[in-house]
Amino acid sequence: MNSENLPQDAVPLQAQGINIDKPGDASFSQSSQLLTVKSLRLHIGIFGRRNAGKSSLLNCLTRQDVSIVSPVAGTTTDPVEKTMEFLPLGPVVFIDTAGVDDQGSLGQMRIEKTRKLFDRTELAIIVAAAGEWTDFEQSLVDEFSRRNTPIVVVFNKCDVAEPNAELVSRLEAVPMVRQIVETTLVPETLSTSLTTVRQAILAAAPEEWINTPSLLGDMVEPNDVVVLVVPIDKEAPKGRIILPQVQTIRDLLDNACCCVVVKESQLEYALNNLKVKPKLVVTDSQAFASVSKLVPEDVPMTGFSVLFARFKGDLEAFADGAKTIETLKPGDRILIAESCSHHPIGDDIGRVKIPNLIRKRVGGDLVFDHVQGADFPENLSAYKLVIHCGACMTNRKTVLSRILHCKRQNVPITNYGMTIAYCLGLFKRALKPFNN
Ligand code: SF4
Repeated sequence: MNSENLPQDAVPLQAQGINIDKPGDASFSQSSQLLTVKSLRLHIGIFGRRNAGKSSLLNCLTRQDVSIVSPVAGTTTDPVEKTMEFLPLGPVVFIDTAGVDDQGSLGQMRIEKTRKLFDRTELAIIVAAAGEWTDFEQSLVDEFSRRNTPIVVVFNKCDVAEPNAELVSRLEAVPMVRQIVETTLVPETLSTSLTTVRQAILAAAPEEWINTPSLLGDMVEPNDVVVLVVPIDKEAPKGRIILPQVQTIRDLLDNACCCVVVKESQLEYALNNLKVKPKLVVTDSQAFASVSKLVPEDVPMTGFSVLFARFKGDLEAFADGAKTIETLKPGDRILIAESCSHHPIGDDIGRVKIPNLIRKRVGGDLVFDHVQGADFPENLSAYKLVIHCGACMTNRKTVLSRILHCKRQNVPITNYGMTIAYCLGLFKRALKPFNN
Protein backbone atom coordinates (compact mmCIF):
# COMPACT_ATOMS: atom_id res chain seq x y z
CA MET A 1 0.00 0.00 0.00
CA ASN A 2 1.46 3.35 -0.88
CA SER A 3 0.84 6.52 1.04
CA GLU A 4 -1.80 7.64 -1.42
CA ASN A 5 -4.21 4.93 -0.51
CA LEU A 6 -3.54 4.75 3.19
CA PRO A 7 -6.78 4.80 5.12
CA GLN A 8 -7.42 8.17 6.73
CA ASP A 9 -6.51 7.08 10.19
CA ALA A 10 -3.91 4.57 9.14
CA VAL A 11 -1.46 3.38 11.75
CA PRO A 12 1.98 4.90 11.18
CA LEU A 13 4.37 2.40 9.64
CA GLN A 14 6.66 2.80 12.64
CA ALA A 15 3.84 1.61 14.84
CA GLN A 16 3.55 -1.42 12.59
CA GLY A 17 7.17 -2.23 13.32
CA ILE A 18 8.37 -1.08 9.92
CA ASN A 19 11.45 1.09 10.04
CA ILE A 20 10.81 4.12 7.90
CA ASP A 21 13.19 6.46 9.67
CA LYS A 22 15.93 6.26 7.12
CA PRO A 23 16.40 9.61 5.48
CA GLY A 24 18.48 9.18 2.40
CA ASP A 25 16.90 10.94 -0.52
CA ALA A 26 18.50 14.27 -1.26
CA SER A 27 15.37 16.20 -0.51
CA PHE A 28 12.65 13.87 0.67
CA SER A 29 13.58 11.12 3.05
CA GLN A 30 11.85 7.79 3.23
CA SER A 31 9.95 9.07 6.26
CA SER A 32 7.57 10.54 3.74
CA GLN A 33 5.84 7.16 3.71
CA LEU A 34 4.54 7.95 7.18
CA LEU A 35 1.04 9.35 7.21
CA THR A 36 2.00 12.15 4.90
CA VAL A 37 -1.65 12.10 4.10
CA LYS A 38 -2.04 14.73 6.81
CA SER A 39 0.16 17.10 4.83
CA LEU A 40 -2.44 16.94 2.05
CA ARG A 41 -5.35 17.84 4.31
CA LEU A 42 -6.81 21.28 4.87
CA HIS A 43 -5.64 22.32 8.34
CA ILE A 44 -8.47 23.98 10.25
CA GLY A 45 -7.38 25.37 13.63
CA ILE A 46 -9.85 26.18 16.40
CA PHE A 47 -8.58 29.02 18.62
CA GLY A 48 -9.93 31.05 21.50
CA ARG A 49 -9.69 31.62 25.21
CA ARG A 50 -10.17 28.80 27.68
CA ASN A 51 -13.71 27.56 28.02
CA ALA A 52 -15.05 29.52 25.06
CA GLY A 53 -16.44 26.31 23.58
CA LYS A 54 -13.63 25.19 21.24
CA SER A 55 -13.86 21.53 22.23
CA SER A 56 -17.67 21.60 21.99
CA LEU A 57 -17.26 22.94 18.47
CA LEU A 58 -14.83 20.18 17.47
CA ASN A 59 -17.13 17.52 18.90
CA CYS A 60 -20.03 19.12 17.06
CA LEU A 61 -18.15 19.17 13.75
CA THR A 62 -16.91 15.61 14.06
CA ARG A 63 -20.06 14.32 15.77
CA GLN A 64 -17.75 12.53 18.18
CA ASP A 65 -16.38 13.14 21.66
CA VAL A 66 -12.91 13.92 20.34
CA SER A 67 -12.13 16.61 22.92
CA ILE A 68 -13.05 16.55 26.58
CA VAL A 69 -15.74 19.12 27.26
CA SER A 70 -15.82 20.44 30.80
CA PRO A 71 -16.96 23.64 32.52
CA VAL A 72 -13.47 23.76 34.07
CA ALA A 73 -11.39 26.23 32.04
CA GLY A 74 -8.29 24.78 30.36
CA THR A 75 -9.38 21.15 30.04
CA THR A 76 -7.66 20.87 26.64
CA THR A 77 -3.98 20.98 27.53
CA ASP A 78 -2.41 19.88 24.25
CA PRO A 79 -3.70 20.33 20.73
CA VAL A 80 -6.16 17.59 19.76
CA GLU A 81 -6.22 16.65 16.07
CA LYS A 82 -8.98 14.88 14.22
CA THR A 83 -8.78 13.94 10.56
CA MET A 84 -11.98 13.46 8.62
CA GLU A 85 -13.63 13.80 5.24
CA PHE A 86 -15.47 17.10 5.29
CA LEU A 87 -17.47 17.03 2.09
CA PRO A 88 -17.47 18.74 -0.31
CA LEU A 89 -14.12 20.16 0.84
CA GLY A 90 -12.55 16.72 1.12
CA PRO A 91 -9.87 15.63 3.59
CA VAL A 92 -9.33 18.02 6.50
CA VAL A 93 -7.67 17.95 9.89
CA PHE A 94 -9.37 19.84 12.70
CA ILE A 95 -7.03 21.01 15.45
CA ASP A 96 -8.53 21.87 18.83
CA THR A 97 -6.01 24.04 20.65
CA ALA A 98 -5.33 24.73 24.29
CA GLY A 99 -6.69 28.13 25.32
CA VAL A 100 -4.21 30.68 24.07
CA ASP A 101 -4.81 32.72 27.23
CA ASP A 102 -3.60 29.79 29.37
CA GLN A 103 -1.96 30.74 32.69
CA GLY A 104 1.10 29.70 34.75
CA SER A 105 4.43 28.31 33.53
CA LEU A 106 2.82 25.16 32.13
CA GLY A 107 0.26 27.44 30.52
CA GLN A 108 3.09 29.35 28.84
CA MET A 109 4.35 26.12 27.32
CA ARG A 110 0.86 25.33 26.06
CA ILE A 111 0.61 28.81 24.57
CA GLU A 112 3.91 28.25 22.75
CA LYS A 113 2.60 24.95 21.37
CA THR A 114 -0.59 26.61 20.24
CA ARG A 115 1.29 29.46 18.61
CA LYS A 116 3.25 26.97 16.50
CA LEU A 117 -0.08 25.89 15.07
CA PHE A 118 -0.59 29.40 13.69
CA ASP A 119 2.01 28.55 11.06
CA ARG A 120 0.20 25.56 9.62
CA THR A 121 -3.38 26.75 10.02
CA GLU A 122 -5.00 27.28 6.62
CA LEU A 123 -8.40 28.24 8.01
CA ALA A 124 -8.76 29.69 11.51
CA ILE A 125 -11.90 29.41 13.59
CA ILE A 126 -11.90 31.88 16.48
CA VAL A 127 -14.41 30.91 19.14
CA ALA A 128 -15.52 33.56 21.64
CA ALA A 129 -18.34 33.62 24.12
CA ALA A 130 -20.75 36.29 22.90
CA GLY A 131 -20.12 39.48 24.86
CA GLU A 132 -16.54 38.47 25.75
CA TRP A 133 -14.51 39.97 22.92
CA THR A 134 -11.30 41.50 24.24
CA ASP A 135 -7.86 42.53 22.98
CA PHE A 136 -7.00 38.85 23.13
CA GLU A 137 -9.55 37.78 20.50
CA GLN A 138 -8.64 40.84 18.44
CA SER A 139 -4.96 39.81 18.56
CA LEU A 140 -5.94 36.46 17.04
CA VAL A 141 -7.75 38.24 14.21
CA ASP A 142 -4.67 40.43 13.66
CA GLU A 143 -2.30 37.46 13.76
CA PHE A 144 -4.21 35.49 11.14
CA SER A 145 -4.84 38.57 9.00
CA ARG A 146 -1.08 39.18 8.88
CA ARG A 147 -0.68 35.62 7.61
CA ASN A 148 -3.46 35.97 5.02
CA THR A 149 -5.31 33.13 6.71
CA PRO A 150 -9.10 33.14 6.26
CA ILE A 151 -10.99 33.44 9.54
CA VAL A 152 -14.39 32.25 10.75
CA VAL A 153 -15.52 33.95 13.97
CA VAL A 154 -17.92 31.84 16.03
CA PHE A 155 -19.77 33.70 18.77
CA ASN A 156 -20.85 30.99 21.19
CA LYS A 157 -23.28 31.10 24.12
CA CYS A 158 -25.64 33.45 22.29
CA ASP A 159 -28.43 32.21 24.56
CA VAL A 160 -26.78 34.18 27.37
CA ALA A 161 -25.61 37.32 25.57
CA GLU A 162 -25.58 38.76 22.07
CA PRO A 163 -22.39 39.90 20.39
CA ASN A 164 -22.00 43.65 20.26
CA ALA A 165 -23.48 44.95 16.96
CA GLU A 166 -20.71 47.51 16.51
CA LEU A 167 -18.09 44.76 16.99
CA VAL A 168 -19.81 42.54 14.42
CA SER A 169 -19.82 45.28 11.78
CA ARG A 170 -16.17 46.07 12.59
CA LEU A 171 -15.27 42.40 12.08
CA GLU A 172 -17.28 42.26 8.86
CA ALA A 173 -14.96 44.95 7.50
CA VAL A 174 -11.82 42.86 8.14
CA PRO A 175 -10.91 41.26 4.78
CA MET A 176 -9.67 37.98 6.24
CA VAL A 177 -12.78 37.54 8.42
CA ARG A 178 -14.80 35.59 5.90
CA GLN A 179 -17.71 34.43 8.05
CA ILE A 180 -19.30 35.32 11.40
CA VAL A 181 -21.51 32.76 13.12
CA GLU A 182 -23.74 33.34 16.14
CA THR A 183 -24.73 30.12 17.90
CA THR A 184 -25.03 28.22 21.15
CA LEU A 185 -23.03 25.00 21.26
CA VAL A 186 -25.21 22.82 23.49
CA PRO A 187 -26.60 19.33 22.78
CA GLU A 188 -30.16 20.63 22.30
CA THR A 189 -29.23 22.81 19.30
CA LEU A 190 -26.29 20.81 18.00
CA SER A 191 -27.83 20.01 14.65
CA THR A 192 -28.60 23.67 13.85
CA SER A 193 -25.15 24.75 15.06
CA LEU A 194 -23.50 22.10 12.92
CA THR A 195 -25.32 23.24 9.78
CA THR A 196 -24.44 26.91 10.37
CA VAL A 197 -20.77 26.36 11.22
CA ARG A 198 -20.38 23.87 8.39
CA GLN A 199 -21.72 26.34 5.85
CA ALA A 200 -19.41 29.03 7.23
CA ILE A 201 -16.36 26.75 6.88
CA LEU A 202 -17.29 25.85 3.30
CA ALA A 203 -17.76 29.52 2.41
CA ALA A 204 -14.47 30.56 4.03
CA ALA A 205 -12.24 27.81 2.61
CA PRO A 206 -9.11 29.23 1.00
CA GLU A 207 -9.31 29.62 -2.76
CA GLU A 208 -6.03 27.75 -3.13
CA TRP A 209 -7.57 24.72 -1.48
CA ILE A 210 -10.60 24.69 -3.75
CA ASN A 211 -8.53 25.17 -6.90
CA THR A 212 -5.36 23.38 -5.88
CA PRO A 213 -2.54 24.33 -8.25
CA SER A 214 -1.15 21.53 -10.39
CA LEU A 215 2.41 20.39 -9.68
CA LEU A 216 3.55 20.71 -13.29
CA GLY A 217 0.34 21.11 -15.28
CA ASP A 218 1.51 24.47 -16.66
CA MET A 219 4.75 22.91 -17.94
CA VAL A 220 3.31 20.08 -20.01
CA GLU A 221 0.75 19.36 -22.73
CA PRO A 222 -1.38 16.23 -23.19
CA ASN A 223 0.67 13.30 -24.59
CA ASP A 224 4.00 14.85 -23.59
CA VAL A 225 6.53 12.28 -22.43
CA VAL A 226 8.04 13.07 -19.04
CA VAL A 227 10.82 10.93 -17.58
CA LEU A 228 11.07 10.58 -13.81
CA VAL A 229 14.35 9.35 -12.33
CA VAL A 230 13.73 7.52 -9.07
CA PRO A 231 16.81 5.96 -7.48
CA ILE A 232 16.05 2.64 -5.79
CA ASP A 233 19.05 2.22 -3.55
CA LYS A 234 19.49 0.40 -0.26
CA GLU A 235 17.81 3.25 1.57
CA ALA A 236 14.71 3.31 -0.60
CA PRO A 237 11.55 2.29 1.27
CA LYS A 238 10.67 -1.35 0.80
CA GLY A 239 8.03 -1.91 -1.87
CA ARG A 240 7.12 1.75 -2.22
CA ILE A 241 8.17 5.04 -3.68
CA ILE A 242 7.94 8.21 -1.68
CA LEU A 243 4.99 10.57 -1.71
CA PRO A 244 6.48 13.45 -3.76
CA GLN A 245 7.20 10.97 -6.57
CA VAL A 246 3.73 9.45 -6.27
CA GLN A 247 2.20 12.92 -6.42
CA THR A 248 4.23 13.77 -9.52
CA ILE A 249 3.09 10.60 -11.31
CA ARG A 250 -0.53 11.36 -10.40
CA ASP A 251 -0.19 14.93 -11.62
CA LEU A 252 1.22 13.76 -14.96
CA LEU A 253 -1.64 11.29 -15.37
CA ASP A 254 -4.12 14.05 -14.50
CA ASN A 255 -2.55 16.09 -17.30
CA ALA A 256 -2.78 13.22 -19.80
CA CYS A 257 0.99 12.88 -20.09
CA CYS A 258 3.01 9.74 -20.75
CA CYS A 259 5.03 9.13 -17.65
CA VAL A 260 8.20 7.04 -17.84
CA VAL A 261 9.63 6.10 -14.46
CA VAL A 262 13.19 4.74 -14.41
CA LYS A 263 16.02 4.13 -12.02
CA GLU A 264 19.20 6.10 -12.61
CA SER A 265 20.79 3.00 -14.14
CA GLN A 266 18.06 2.70 -16.82
CA LEU A 267 17.95 6.39 -17.77
CA GLU A 268 20.42 6.15 -20.66
CA TYR A 269 18.62 3.11 -22.09
CA ALA A 270 15.25 4.84 -21.79
CA LEU A 271 16.49 8.05 -23.43
CA ASN A 272 18.07 6.11 -26.29
CA ASN A 273 14.91 4.11 -26.94
CA LEU A 274 12.23 6.73 -26.67
CA LYS A 275 10.85 7.64 -30.11
CA VAL A 276 10.12 11.19 -28.98
CA LYS A 277 12.23 13.66 -27.09
CA PRO A 278 11.01 13.98 -23.48
CA LYS A 279 9.31 17.24 -22.63
CA LEU A 280 10.98 17.15 -19.24
CA VAL A 281 13.18 14.97 -17.05
CA VAL A 282 12.60 15.17 -13.30
CA THR A 283 15.20 13.61 -11.06
CA ASP A 284 15.80 13.00 -7.44
CA SER A 285 18.07 15.89 -6.48
CA GLN A 286 20.66 13.49 -5.12
CA ALA A 287 21.18 12.23 -8.66
CA PHE A 288 21.36 15.72 -10.22
CA ALA A 289 25.03 15.44 -11.15
CA SER A 290 24.92 12.04 -12.87
CA VAL A 291 21.52 12.62 -14.52
CA SER A 292 22.58 15.99 -15.93
CA LYS A 293 25.43 14.25 -17.77
CA LEU A 294 23.02 11.80 -19.44
CA VAL A 295 20.21 14.19 -20.33
CA PRO A 296 20.99 16.19 -23.51
CA GLU A 297 21.25 19.94 -22.95
CA ASP A 298 18.19 20.57 -25.15
CA VAL A 299 15.99 18.42 -22.90
CA PRO A 300 14.70 20.40 -19.90
CA MET A 301 15.66 18.89 -16.56
CA THR A 302 14.79 19.67 -12.98
CA GLY A 303 14.49 17.98 -9.57
CA PHE A 304 11.50 16.77 -7.58
CA SER A 305 12.46 19.09 -4.77
CA VAL A 306 12.66 22.06 -7.14
CA LEU A 307 9.15 21.19 -8.35
CA PHE A 308 8.08 21.04 -4.73
CA ALA A 309 9.82 24.32 -3.91
CA ARG A 310 7.09 25.87 -6.03
CA PHE A 311 4.27 23.54 -5.01
CA LYS A 312 4.95 23.65 -1.28
CA GLY A 313 6.59 27.03 -1.01
CA ASP A 314 7.71 29.95 -3.15
CA LEU A 315 10.05 29.19 -6.05
CA GLU A 316 11.26 32.77 -6.39
CA ALA A 317 12.00 33.21 -2.68
CA PHE A 318 13.87 29.90 -2.57
CA ALA A 319 15.82 30.73 -5.75
CA ASP A 320 16.84 34.12 -4.30
CA GLY A 321 17.83 32.38 -1.09
CA ALA A 322 20.03 29.88 -2.95
CA LYS A 323 21.90 32.70 -4.66
CA THR A 324 23.12 33.94 -1.29
CA ILE A 325 25.24 30.79 -0.99
CA GLU A 326 27.68 32.76 -3.12
CA THR A 327 28.05 35.36 -0.35
CA LEU A 328 28.65 32.90 2.51
CA LYS A 329 31.96 32.97 4.34
CA PRO A 330 33.69 30.52 6.66
CA GLY A 331 32.28 30.87 10.19
CA ASP A 332 28.79 31.92 9.02
CA ARG A 333 25.85 30.28 10.78
CA ILE A 334 23.20 28.39 8.80
CA LEU A 335 19.91 26.99 10.04
CA ILE A 336 18.73 23.70 8.57
CA ALA A 337 15.01 23.08 9.15
CA GLU A 338 13.34 19.73 8.60
CA SER A 339 9.58 19.32 8.80
CA CYS A 340 9.62 15.89 10.39
CA SER A 341 11.65 14.34 13.15
CA HIS A 342 13.73 11.36 12.14
CA HIS A 343 16.88 9.87 13.57
CA PRO A 344 19.71 10.83 11.25
CA ILE A 345 21.77 7.93 9.95
CA GLY A 346 24.93 7.69 7.88
CA ASP A 347 25.25 10.37 5.22
CA ASP A 348 22.17 12.24 6.40
CA ILE A 349 21.19 14.86 3.86
CA GLY A 350 20.70 17.70 6.36
CA ARG A 351 23.61 16.86 8.64
CA VAL A 352 26.26 15.56 6.26
CA LYS A 353 25.58 15.97 2.55
CA ILE A 354 24.35 19.55 2.40
CA PRO A 355 26.85 20.91 4.96
CA ASN A 356 29.67 19.24 3.01
CA LEU A 357 28.47 20.66 -0.31
CA ILE A 358 28.35 24.16 1.21
CA ARG A 359 31.73 23.81 2.92
CA LYS A 360 33.24 22.79 -0.41
CA ARG A 361 31.60 25.68 -2.21
CA VAL A 362 32.59 28.25 0.44
CA GLY A 363 36.05 26.82 0.96
CA GLY A 364 35.93 26.62 4.75
CA ASP A 365 33.88 25.49 7.72
CA LEU A 366 30.55 27.00 8.74
CA VAL A 367 28.26 26.51 11.72
CA PHE A 368 25.11 24.45 11.06
CA ASP A 369 22.19 24.39 13.49
CA HIS A 370 19.28 21.99 13.01
CA VAL A 371 15.61 22.12 13.95
CA GLN A 372 12.97 19.49 13.30
CA GLY A 373 9.21 19.15 13.21
CA ALA A 374 7.27 22.19 14.39
CA ASP A 375 10.37 23.82 15.91
CA PHE A 376 11.47 26.98 14.17
CA PRO A 377 13.26 29.80 16.03
CA GLU A 378 11.49 33.12 16.59
CA ASN A 379 14.77 35.02 16.35
CA LEU A 380 16.75 34.30 13.19
CA SER A 381 19.24 37.15 13.48
CA ALA A 382 22.20 34.80 13.98
CA TYR A 383 21.66 33.14 10.60
CA LYS A 384 22.99 34.04 7.18
CA LEU A 385 20.73 31.51 5.50
CA VAL A 386 17.90 29.09 6.31
CA ILE A 387 17.79 25.85 4.32
CA HIS A 388 14.48 24.00 4.46
CA CYS A 389 13.90 20.36 3.60
CA GLY A 390 11.46 19.29 0.89
CA ALA A 391 8.63 19.64 3.43
CA CYS A 392 6.75 16.58 2.21
CA MET A 393 5.43 15.97 5.73
CA THR A 394 3.89 19.37 6.23
CA ASN A 395 1.47 21.61 4.43
CA ARG A 396 2.23 24.55 2.15
CA LYS A 397 0.97 27.05 4.70
CA THR A 398 3.72 26.07 7.13
CA VAL A 399 6.41 26.66 4.54
CA LEU A 400 4.87 29.96 3.43
CA SER A 401 4.66 31.08 7.08
CA ARG A 402 8.34 30.31 7.53
CA ILE A 403 9.25 32.16 4.35
CA LEU A 404 7.28 35.17 5.64
CA HIS A 405 9.00 34.88 9.02
CA CYS A 406 12.42 34.90 7.30
CA LYS A 407 11.47 37.82 5.05
CA ARG A 408 10.41 39.90 8.05
CA GLN A 409 13.85 39.35 9.56
CA ASN A 410 15.74 39.78 6.29
CA VAL A 411 17.15 36.28 6.40
CA PRO A 412 17.24 34.44 3.05
CA ILE A 413 15.64 31.01 2.86
CA THR A 414 16.02 28.22 0.31
CA ASN A 415 15.43 24.47 0.20
CA TYR A 416 17.48 21.30 -0.12
CA GLY A 417 16.97 20.80 -3.87
CA MET A 418 17.88 24.41 -4.73
CA THR A 419 20.95 24.20 -2.50
CA ILE A 420 22.17 21.01 -4.14
CA ALA A 421 21.56 22.38 -7.64
CA TYR A 422 23.38 25.61 -6.76
CA CYS A 423 26.37 23.91 -5.18
CA LEU A 424 26.70 21.53 -8.14
CA GLY A 425 26.55 24.37 -10.67
CA LEU A 426 23.20 23.10 -12.01
CA PHE A 427 21.05 25.90 -10.67
CA LYS A 428 20.22 27.58 -13.99
CA ARG A 429 19.44 24.30 -15.66
CA ALA A 430 17.16 23.13 -12.84
CA LEU A 431 15.23 26.41 -12.95
CA LYS A 432 15.02 26.78 -16.72
CA PRO A 433 11.86 24.63 -17.14
CA PHE A 434 10.01 27.16 -14.97
CA ASN A 435 11.06 30.18 -17.02
CA ASN A 436 8.96 29.43 -20.11
S1 SF4 B 1 9.47 16.41 5.83
FE1 SF4 B 1 11.49 16.97 5.15
S2 SF4 B 1 12.94 15.74 6.36
FE2 SF4 B 1 10.91 14.82 6.56
S3 SF4 B 1 10.84 13.25 4.95
FE3 SF4 B 1 9.95 15.11 4.06
S4 SF4 B 1 11.65 16.15 3.07
FE4 SF4 B 1 12.55 14.61 4.46
